[in-house]
Formats: sequence, C-alpha cells, structure tokens
Amino acid sequence: MARDKDYRNTEYCPILNKVEEQKQVLEKEIKSEFPRTKIVYNKVNNWDSVYHKKFAQIYNNKCAYCGALWGLLPVESFEVDHFLNEASFPDTTEGRVEAGRMINLVWSCISCNRGKREITIKPPYDDLLNVDNGNIAMVFRRDREFYIRICNTYQNDKFIQQFYKSLHLGYETRRLDYLGLQLEGKYQAEKDEKRKNKLGECLSILMKERNRMVVTDGAL
Ligand SMILES: [Zn+2]
Repeated sequence: MARDKDYRNTEYCPILNKVEEQKQVLEKEIKSEFPRTKIVYNKVNNWDSVYHKKFAQIYNNKCAYCGALWGLLPVESFEVDHFLNEASFPDTTEGRVEAGRMINLVWSCISCNRGKREITIKPPYDDLLNVDNGNIAMVFRRDREFYIRICNTYQNDKFIQQFYKSLHLGYETRRLDYLGLQLEGKYQAEKDEKRKNKLGECLSILMKERNRMVVTDGAL
C-alpha cells in the first residue's frame, strides 16, 4: 500500500495510525461514561464535548476525505460525517443507532460532509473508499500542481467520478488547503525565528485569501 503517497498528507503530516482501534476505544469510553447514550454520533458531533476533540485527534485534525487541517480553517468548518449516509440504514431508532456508531463516523470538513450527503456508498465502494485504513489514497492522488485527481485505474468509474465531483475534490480551494498544510508544516519545523515569522505571515495571507474565496464564490 502506497501510504507514503497519501494525497491527504504532505511530508510533514503524521500518517493515520490505527484509526479503527482508536475509535473503538473512544466509543467504549463514551459508553462507560454515559451508559444510556444510544446514538454515539450525538456525543461526538457536539462541539462542546471533549469527545469532539478526541475524535478529531484520531484523524490528526484533518478531513479524512480531502486532508484539510482543522487548525487552519474556521473552527466551525468541520463536522462528524456518517461514512454510509443515514439513508443507507432503516428509518427506525435501531437504524439511527447503527448509523451513529463509531465505526461509521468520520472526521470531515463541511464541504466534503455536505457534498457526500446524498451519495449512497455500496460495496465494493465502502471498502475502496475506506478512509480509516487509507484505501481511499489508492483511488485519488495529488498531482504536481497540488490538485486532487482520480487515479488512472478508476478514471472511467462512474461512481468514483460522482464521488469526486460531489465532494468538490477538484476545486481550487483544495489546492490552497494543501499549500496551507505544507506551509504550516514548514512553519512548525522552522527553528530560525525570522524565517518562522515570515512563513507565518505567508500562511495567514494564503488562508485569508482562501477563506475569502469560499465566502465570495461559495466555492467550499
Ligand atoms: Zn474535506
């Protein structure tokens, strides 16, 4: 598996580690603290809850679909996503409990989460697009100009095309997020104070421009 080429990461990003196991541990923690909680999603999706932050940390605070970093975007730009959308489950309490189980939850930016809301993921795509084990990084790649592209193998796959389009993975903002991610990595790694300040300035100009683009063009 070409994890070192994960399009969601720059050279500075730590690789996702045992996401599924960490999620199980967090689910156990929530259930032991709140034994009457049926829908785990409600606890994790609550901004004020400590579980919200813990959940984000499992994903290194990065959107599992596009790789955008939580810390660089406005705090409200992230949500907890149902990997298989709620329409994939029976419209009953049991169905909602099942949909809201940790195994089905993913840390996501608003743009990706809302974009994929209407998409029903069925086999084999549930496995192919698995974000937790990194399979999705075999489907998409980052080109030399920082755009996210569909890998050759799946270029003619209608479902993958729809997924790519709905999540706006080809958008300009995805490039800027990646550039921001790289600058942020450089900023963190820089020891020289002067250079660090300069990098910080560049980063803040870039992200301001990025957020202005989202507001004026609606180009989430
Ligand atoms: Zn995203």
